[in-house]
Amino acid sequence: MLLIRYCTYTQTVMISRLLPNRFDVAIIGAGPSGSLAAMNLAGKGIKTLILEKETLPRYKACGGGLVYRTRNWLKESAGLEIPDSIIESESFQAGFRIHANNLMFEVKRNVPIITMVMREQFDYWLTMQAVNQGAELVDNTKVLSIKKDIDFLITTTGGVFCAPVVVLASGALGKILFESDADKQLITGFHNYREMMPALEAEIPMSDNELFPFARFDLDMNKGGYGWVFPKKTSYSVGLVVNKKSRTNLNRLLGDYLRLLKLDQVKPTIVKGHTIPYQAWANSISVQGILKTGDAMGLADPVVGEGLSNALQSGWMAAEAIIESGLDPRLSEKVYLNKLGLKILPQLKIATRLAGILYNQPKLSKMIFRTKGQEIAENFTEVFLGNRDYPTEKEVFSVLRKLLF
Ligand SMILES: Cc1cc2nc3c(=O)[nH]c(=O)nc-3n(C[C@H](O)[C@H](O)[C@H](O)COP(=O)(O)OP(=O)(O)OC[C@H]3O[C@@H](n4cnc5c(N)ncnc54)[C@H](O)[C@@H]3O)c2cc1C
Repeated sequence: MLLIRYCTYTQTVMISRLLPNRFDVAIIGAGPSGSLAAMNLAGKGIKTLILEKETLPRYKACGGGLVYRTRNWLKESAGLEIPDSIIESESFQAGFRIHANNLMFEVKRNVPIITMVMREQFDYWLTMQAVNQGAELVDNTKVLSIKKDIDFLITTTGGVFCAPVVVLASGALGKILFESDADKQLITGFHNYREMMPALEAEIPMSDNELFPFARFDLDMNKGGYGWVFPKKTSYSVGLVVNKKSRTNLNRLLGDYLRLLKLDQVKPTIVKGHTIPYQAWANSISVQGILKTGDAMGLADPVVGEGLSNALQSGWMAAEAIIESGLDPRLSEKVYLNKLGLKILPQLKIATRLAGILYNQPKLSKMIFRTKGQEIAENFTEVFLGNRDYPTEKEVFSVLRKLLF
């Protein structure tokens, strides 16, 4: 270890290749974010380790809805075309409903607005892309703690690994103890419980595939949150997410939602809760020199809880930052922040404002949907497609002013 302190980067890389448990970069978590980071790094010849606590492939509570913008980005930027065997269905149409006002808005496009996948298959396919590029996968191995020495020493249920650069891609709930000489702290994907949106998802076997042929969003199924139905090959993924302020019994709400959809007679194969963290990015993009990506950084969009796009892109960007900064953790933080600041963070800021109106001001949002519902649905769709960004704050306030005064 001491030797490494005095080595040049090239020498360090050469030494690290000789030590079996020492890697150039260690990535915690084999979700979409960690896998894309690993694929990018390993593809550039960097000795990369992925540590995953579950045995892969693993289930992840998720609608598995990938917006067209990101399917396109995967192809254009990462050179990945999702194989047909992984695509469960494609929604060229989507419906948005507001029950209180009996409003329904439908949109149609000639490209798949949302591509449906099952996360265990999609995530495993992504991880295998990283492995094919040379990344080493160690699954069924939970990271317990990280200690900063000359390298980061990573203690897991399967032994100790070390790397000078670590990426925290451990999702919303991964909690890891960080130890330094000065203190001990838990590092997580969120800073407090107000930054999490609880969500519940059920997989309902499909008896009639015509019942919900395309993605459907029910925007006022509960106080401050929404419900969705995503058709897959043989099941519907039905879920609910609630905004941080509501204290609701999600199981009861899901029962009500399934009754409304007339799906309550079918026994779900899986019902699983999880959480969607958001806004943690406002606090930090790294902790103790460890870069955070995806849900571990709270990068999900608070309007729709759509987290796959930013998980994939932040993983890719973190890898780019590490490569561009020559594996220097401090410099890579700056480069990473610059990359996130170009689009992802400004879009999340405005999305947070929009979510505030949509979920915390029901009267106002209903009024907006009554007068401009179809236009909003079309604009959201254009955001999903990548043809436009969210409106600027100025544009939002100009619409509000016209409606209110
Ligand atoms: C109910 C629900 C529905 C959703 N639906 C959608 C949707 O339709 N579309 C969409 O875009 N987004 C959706 N999201 C959000 C999306 O699932 C997340 O944003 C996305 O999974 C984030 O990816 P990630 O790689 O950052 O984290 P994850 O996918 O959570 O991956 C993190 C990985 O780290 C591993 N890990 C955790 N701790 C440790 C540890 N200590 N040691 C080793 N490994 C560890 C975990 O096992 C996991 O495999 C939904 C979320 C929920 C909860």
